[in-house]
Amino acid sequence: MTHLTDSNKTNFETQQEVSASAGVLYVVATPIGNIEDITYRAVKTLQQVDLICAEDTRHSQRLMEHYAIKTPMMSLHEHNEEARIQQITDKLEQGKSIGLISDAGTPLISDPGFKLVRALRAKGYQVSPIPGASAIISALSVAGLATDSFSFWGFLPAKSRARQARFQAFSEHKETLVFYESSHRIVDSLKDLLEVLGDRPIVIARELTKNFETIISADTSIVIETMLTDSNQQKGEFVLMVEGNASASVGLSSEAKAVMSSLLSELPPNKAAKLAAQITGVKKKELYQWALEQKDN
Ligand code: SAM
Repeated sequence: MTHLTDSNKTNFETQQEVSASAGVLYVVATPIGNIEDITYRAVKTLQQVDLICAEDTRHSQRLMEHYAIKTPMMSLHEHNEEARIQQITDKLEQGKSIGLISDAGTPLISDPGFKLVRALRAKGYQVSPIPGASAIISALSVAGLATDSFSFWGFLPAKSRARQARFQAFSEHKETLVFYESSHRIVDSLKDLLEVLGDRPIVIARELTKNFETIISADTSIVIETMLTDSNQQKGEFVLMVEGNASASVGLSSEAKAVMSSLLSELPPNKAAKLAAQITGVKKKELYQWALEQKDN
């Protein structure tokens, strides 16, 4: 198989390095638990590509057998990703198409693939998504927390002190915060969250799409108590979602203030606010207003 789609071609017209007959890298989402959570197109793509790069070929064997996918597999994980880039580039140049999968969900989302995709796109190869499951989007879709804006921070640091510092940095964020967490650390992370951010409303999505799927919405202290009372609630895979700080809407975040302060030392308020808005995403009007208040003070 060479091409399943002609999309994205315009991106690459200016690139010299890639031959017209080069293959495509398909970034294919696989289930996050329930084996039936995969699209028809994903299965068809995995059946038709010349090679599948999998995070763990043994782990993905079950999926291959379930969907009668007989395509050869090669490992691509965090320890060999860099070394694989040239091999994969050579195969694409030979007109071979490749599917990239991870152990679960969407590759690159707290999973390998970023270095490969960046390198291929820089060279001008076509990289095309075959969308599907991802734990973060599945969790947000059922949490009942604000989804008009949210920020995803992947896995929290392993050490308590670094975790607390991370939470501190988020204390004034207004948007819903989303993290991935493992069973070993979930209780400790929640304790740090409670200590730094207080008793915020949170939602824990555990074992989504699997037999023991559980979604708990409560204040942090109650979730900790629930997990300590029933240790089964500490098992499995977790998405932790934290309600944003609603009161942070009064005034600017410390980050926005810091950016404005340094820009104001060189620029008039209007220009500083314009630049700071681009950097921080805060409305220019709010930044400009803050600058005027500083002048008055
Ligand atoms: N690429 C995946 C995705 O698109 O969601 C994420 C891979 S990351 C290595 C694995 C983490 O995702 C787990 O530790 C957990 O935090 C979260 N996760 C994956 N599957 C999950 C599920 N079924 N229920 C809850 N969280 C899950």
